Amino acid sequence: MRQKIVAGNWKMHKNAEETEDLLNELIDKIPNDIDAQIIVAPTFVNLASAVDHLEFTTINVAAQNMHQNENGAYTGEISADMLTSIGVTTVIIGHSERRAYFNESDAILAEKVTTALKHDMTSIFCFGEELKDRKDGQHFNVVENQLCDGLFHIENEDWKKIILAYEPVWAIGTGETASPEQAQEMHEFIRETVRKRYGSNIAEGVSILYGGSVKPENAKEIFSKPDVDGGLIGGAALKADDFCKIATSI
Ligand code: PGA
Repeated sequence: MRQKIVAGNWKMHKNAEETEDLLNELIDKIPNDIDAQIIVAPTFVNLASAVDHLEFTTINVAAQNMHQNENGAYTGEISADMLTSIGVTTVIIGHSERRAYFNESDAILAEKVTTALKHDMTSIFCFGEELKDRKDGQHFNVVENQLCDGLFHIENEDWKKIILAYEPVWAIGTGETASPEQAQEMHEFIRETVRKRYGSNIAEGVSILYGGSVKPENAKEIFSKPDVDGGLIGGAALKADDFCKIATSI
């Protein structure tokens, strides 16, 4: 059985007090016996307090990004060692906003994955096509290339530290969700692409999350698809009730 996962990417939202409030609400509302791993990704400055706050809960904390280098003169950046030293062992890599606004190429993302593995961190590796790719019928090619160039340098044993997140760019923050059928079609393709390169055991074992305008109203149907193992949630992760409803739809 693959691990089911529901992760909330808080992006550049929630100051220290708001972070604490949302975490308290999540602790109250998310059932302890939920059949999924729950992850929240607050902004860097609130990670340490989130780790402390969630210490005796089943909710895990992830960073939204990190630098590929170990340390050095990279003003404003955060290293893997800094994250693990405060107890953060999961990191989102390759979110489409990092790719688009911060010019993170597949080559840089490949380095970030390598660095995360070196530090025994789990990567939530994000990828997905833009609207023009889908309109041009290129979405499968684009996704395959993102996987090959950003991820397929890793070794078989590294896959236990990888969570995949398919996030079609046209569905992120737009209110437009991929249909459950579109999500399933792509997730099946992704698993097949992993199978061709790494074999069935790895392909069947890796969790593939869907992200892009997941809401309480559509989560159940998307999560019901056989190759969808959970979700990476943006906007709806900022409200405890919505996130909880999504998490319990798994
Ligand atoms: P959204 O964002 O749920 O607000 O569309 C998803 C994401 O960016 O991970």
